Amino acid sequence: MGSHETERKTTGWAARDPSGILSPYTYSLRNTGPEDVFIKVICCGICHTDIHQAKNDLGKSNYPMVPGHEVVAGHATQTVNNTVPRRSGRTTMSTPMVIPLKVALPVPWSLIKNGMAPEQVAPLLCAGITVYSPLNHFGLTASGLRGGVLRLGGVGHMGVKIAKAMGHHVTVISSSDKKKVEALEHLGADEYLVSSDAEGMQKAAGSLNYIIDTVPVFHPLEPTFHC
Ligand SMILES: [Zn+2]
Repeated sequence: MGSHETERKTTGWAARDPSGILSPYTYSLRNTGPEDVFIKVICCGICHTDIHQAKNDLGKSNYPMVPGHEVVAGHATQTVNNTVPRRSGRTTMSTPMVIPLKVALPVPWSLIKNGMAPEQVAPLLCAGITVYSPLNHFGLTASGLRGGVLRLGGVGHMGVKIAKAMGHHVTVISSSDKKKVEALEHLGADEYLVSSDAEGMQKAAGSLNYIIDTVPVFHPLEPTFHC
């Protein structure tokens, strides 16, 4: 330990400009402080925010940037004087990383023991929290509630799985019937509504305790308010 320790290098796939094209990028890990943890990344999800960041859609990107914030570590150790990327650096598959201990959490061993793969854990860290948080915040965790999930993308898919795990009756509301089989047969949703189907929407009026809106762009809420 100490300043003489060999500098650690790591390689991730980085975007270097708003094209968002990724290429290998080697950088030094920062020294590990007392509040940090050194982890070995075995898997990382990519959510749409990463794509926005890589392409500078939000106008605040710093390049080079290794996208990904759904990071699963094989194990974590607290050490002193590791190396680390700049703040904008994020990590990808099988690379070491140094992060503040307060943002690391253990994956419950029971999940791993029951066959949950790291790539199944990764989306829970952003998409999963995005839908779990409002359910928890608004006290919608009791079994038996009737919930709606508006749009079946990555976040909506997690919404169906989490609401079903809570014992809810789940209706997917989508703009077309393209994902009906996926919703009902693969994800276990109970019902499927197409938002342009005026009659179906009318029949569903007043039938839901809540709707999780996972549409990532501005859109009128009024059509779904009656469900
Ligand atoms: Zn995300």
